[in-house]
Amino acid sequence: MSPELIESFVEEANNIQCNFPLNNLPFGVCYETDKKKCFSGTAIGDKVFNLTHAEELDLIPSFGFGDVFLNSFMSKGPSARKEIRKILQDLLSDNSKKKGEVERCLLPLNNCDNFKAFEISEYTDFYSCKNHALNASKIIRGENAELSRNWYNLPVAYNGRASSVLTTGSDIRRPTGQIFDPDSGVIKFEPTRKLDFELEIGTVIGGNLSVGETLGFEEAENLIFGYVLLNDWSARDMQAWEYQPLGPFLSKSFGTSISPWIITPEALEPFKMKTPEREFQLLPHFEDDKAFVFDIDLNVTLIEHSGTETDILKTNSKELYYSPVQQVIHHASAGCGISTGDLMGSGTISGTEEGSFGCMLELSWGGKKKIVLSSGKTRDFLEDNDTIVFKGMAREREFTVGFGSCSGRIVK
Ligand code: CA
Repeated sequence: MSPELIESFVEEANNIQCNFPLNNLPFGVCYETDKKKCFSGTAIGDKVFNLTHAEELDLIPSFGFGDVFLNSFMSKGPSARKEIRKILQDLLSDNSKKKGEVERCLLPLNNCDNFKAFEISEYTDFYSCKNHALNASKIIRGENAELSRNWYNLPVAYNGRASSVLTTGSDIRRPTGQIFDPDSGVIKFEPTRKLDFELEIGTVIGGNLSVGETLGFEEAENLIFGYVLLNDWSARDMQAWEYQPLGPFLSKSFGTSISPWIITPEALEPFKMKTPEREFQLLPHFEDDKAFVFDIDLNVTLIEHSGTETDILKTNSKELYYSPVQQVIHHASAGCGISTGDLMGSGTISGTEEGSFGCMLELSWGGKKKIVLSSGKTRDFLEDNDTIVFKGMAREREFTVGFGSCSGRIVK
């Protein structure tokens, strides 16, 4: 039986299209323009419930929302998250006994700017979608290229850069770097000509694991605080020159954008799906019989400087081969330790059909095929003043659990 909408007195939250029903209750940090103040909040319909203020008013118990950044709350783990969810679902329900007090903590979503929700301690980027990895191999090494054997046995990843993880709406400066022209043999230091986005889901960690310790499936699952949309901006010409033999470095370190609201595992529980068929059995520590991915519709829009919008791709996060939990298990398995605020990108998510590929490298097949925009203009990679917007929505019969959006504009 499909889960039912939990009805709220905030009417917009009961709209089937709304990203933020009472079933969702994502956590984030907002900036209130009038008061010039940041606060922790949850989105409900077209409103934000101010958790920092609710804590001051003793409307909710103390969960650490006075800190504004969510790290302290995140570190308390799943029991605190489930407890506050239950409290909020009572307070905001259509038969709330404290509606008057609750309304003092509600403000229009439009009056708030999203702020970075948590201090990001580390950032790791995986490469966990088979369709993307296979397409990228073919584009770089030719149509007959296959994935290396290790790809089917472990979620390949590299340690990225936390300092340049930005929240939605931030500009992304076109990076300058070394670019090698294979035809002329000339190496230049100049702005990238192959600027790309990568459509990913980010896993956000809440809780700590000491150096030397490892994780079973349930322990890893309990360390996940939630999920965001993540854009791993990439400079393909810089990447092609620098990546051998140790993997990407500056071609991906200049910026990573994330969506502002962290969507909890509880909100995504109804959307769990089995991982795809395996070519080779995974080793026992991955506990593959428990693995799951999520059924979340993802779409990407390119907005030109003129404002013309083009939906350039649609796909779904169920295309991932490794479960986010398996990524966390693997990450911890050699004993590096994990801490609250760790962010792990899934890897670019691509479907199998044209129009479902999660980056421009694939959509333009390495620049060989022009992407035609609504204006009639074309792209193979991103131009200055292009804005890329990601949206993510998990749909049930009676409600939608949405991520809001993750956007970034390219500037010179
Ligand atoms: Ca990536």
